[in-house]
Amino acid sequence: MKNIPLLDLKAQYQTIREEVRQAVDQVLDNGAYIMGPEVKAFEADVAAYIGVKHAIGVANGTDALLLALDAAGIGEGDEVITTPFTFFATAEVISQVGATPVFVDIDEKTYNIDVAQIRTKINEKTKAIIPVHIFGQPANMDEIMTLANEHQLFVLEDAAQAMGSEYKGRKIGSLGHAATYSFFPTKNLGGYGDGGMIVTNDDELAQRIRILRVHGSSPKYYHSMIGYNSRLDELQATMLRIKLRFLDQWNDARRDKATFYNEALANTSLITPFADDDRKHIYHLYILQAENRDEMMHYLKEKGIASGVYYPVPLHQQNVYLPLGYQEGSLPVSEYMSKRTFAIPLYAELDQDAMNYIVETIQAFYK
Ligand SMILES: *Cc1c(COP(=O)(O)O)cnc(C)c1O
Repeated sequence: MKNIPLLDLKAQYQTIREEVRQAVDQVLDNGAYIMGPEVKAFEADVAAYIGVKHAIGVANGTDALLLALDAAGIGEGDEVITTPFTFFATAEVISQVGATPVFVDIDEKTYNIDVAQIRTKINEKTKAIIPVHIFGQPANMDEIMTLANEHQLFVLEDAAQAMGSEYKGRKIGSLGHAATYSFFPTKNLGGYGDGGMIVTNDDELAQRIRILRVHGSSPKYYHSMIGYNSRLDELQATMLRIKLRFLDQWNDARRDKATFYNEALANTSLITPFADDDRKHIYHLYILQAENRDEMMHYLKEKGIASGVYYPVPLHQQNVYLPLGYQEGSLPVSEYMSKRTFAIPLYAELDQDAMNYIVETIQAFYK
């Protein structure tokens, strides 16, 4: 009986095991365990990779969003426009700073925020837009930035799923006023624990974020703001530095495998991911749409193939956000997709035999 997981982190670890263990040993021997030289070096590596001036390591991707919004001065009485088709954290942080999330529907091809609908929600309370490059697919950043600049809105890219994605030849994360990453283990650049980062070209914003992550203090024990305890661990930083060197290679392997799936599944009624020449999609997740998704997933499971639903409940329909008053059918594309989309296994170490078996199994389902 086959047993193909959605993602195989142990297989990836085997490819870098010796390097990682040596790096960990070195940090343990050095004795600087918080905000040491490896965090600084990793921040410099990420800033160079994305092509921005500042990169600031924090405890996780959710804190990255939270500190960026707080540093941008978003708070009580403000509205922030975002997508409901994302992981909960994207909206959660808007609520945490005391602002209100305003959800607009998604584009049915890219699953990203529909820019035309952003315009209809902008009013005098609107302060920011958070586009999410969902599943690794770049959002329409040119249109978003044009609209934001017209209305002086802060644009925070949630790039948790898109480290290495490109839009018109530019790295995702360098296009908004700031962007955030998550190093949760399952992300394309994932650590061996939690971690996150904020990138920006804005000197003042970067400075505020650096102060916020250490309890609002600068220098130490002198507090000018109410901040957070949100630091990236030295151990995570040293392991992530190694993994960053392999990221492009791993992303390219994912892209090749996604192309194989796209072609092999073209003759089924499944809808495969949208791929545009002017974007580099890095397939954090390989998402299909099926009419009878739940039966399909049940069938795959019986045949030893893992799959997952991203995301079963759009955020405007989450219990905690029901008081915002969105009616059933108010964001129809998100609601429709939440009943149709699912992910099948995709990772750099996934071998051709396994992919052939997955494709054959999907085809057999339709017979
Ligand atoms: C994973 C993720 C986050 C949160 O990151 P954590 O590191 O788990 O806190 C935020 N937004 C999106 C889109 C994510 O996928």
